[in-house]
Amino acid sequence: MLFRIIIILITVTLSFAGVSASASERLTVRELDQKIVKELRAEGDCINTTNVVLCAQQGKFEPDTLASLLELFDEGAIAIRQYLGSQFDMPGNEDDPIEFFVHSDVGVPHTTIFHEPWIFLNIDTITYDMIPYLHEMVHVMAQWSWRTSEWVGEGFANYVASSVVESGVGYHRSFILADGLERLSEFCGSSAGAAMLPLVGEPGRRSTLSDENAAIFRLMMSDRRTYAPAYYAMSWSFTEYLIENIGLDGLRAIAESMDPSSVSKTISDTTIEEHKDKWREQYCDV
Ligand SMILES: [Zn+2]
Repeated sequence: MLFRIIIILITVTLSFAGVSASASERLTVRELDQKIVKELRAEGDCINTTNVVLCAQQGKFEPDTLASLLELFDEGAIAIRQYLGSQFDMPGNEDDPIEFFVHSDVGVPHTTIFHEPWIFLNIDTITYDMIPYLHEMVHVMAQWSWRTSEWVGEGFANYVASSVVESGVGYHRSFILADGLERLSEFCGSSAGAAMLPLVGEPGRRSTLSDENAAIFRLMMSDRRTYAPAYYAMSWSFTEYLIENIGLDGLRAIAESMDPSSVSKTISDTTIEEHKDKWREQYCDV
């Protein structure tokens, strides 16, 4: 099993490395996304329901595999929309289907935030059943969660994905967090966890973080295998803690503010730093 995981990690690392060498030298992520969409819409294997469109690189998957994926994505889209209720937030026509594009040039799975409801997946995530499809769909359908707050965006995506799975829909795993929150306390106590901790609870997106936090964020992006599991697990767990203690509306008020500490103090008589200390005591064994 360990051997298989190592092989998967090597494969994935190599494919990501291939992307950075061959594709990003010439194109920005946005330009590459648009190129992939154009290619797949013209000649990809595309199928759809009213909720989702799935376009894969021509001939990469059997029709049965694509049909099963479409069913999985469709069920997930319905469940997330239902879960979000009044917290649904997708600009434009809210009945537009969410479009999935599967291509070997895609690196890390992502959405085209601020733009279309597009999700990009690399082929490995499908081959190894590690598709963060629920996580990415939450990014698309609950845009309030990330507009001002990078960590809430990631934490909330994993929180909703796992809640939907608990209700019996689909699966929630990825190369970054293959075991959900099972290894949370290990991550918290690791040097990677210590390095990532300042980002958890801090306002700002990657483009608006303080210089100090922007450097930590870049560290995570440059060595995702080392740092991302701790960052994602801690963001998810702290999001869950806040929802349990101050409710979803409270989390949203924090997510939408550049001064989350005073917002938190106003709504819960507790600053975000105090919440964070309590969360760490309870979940991180510190
Ligand atoms: Zn994400």
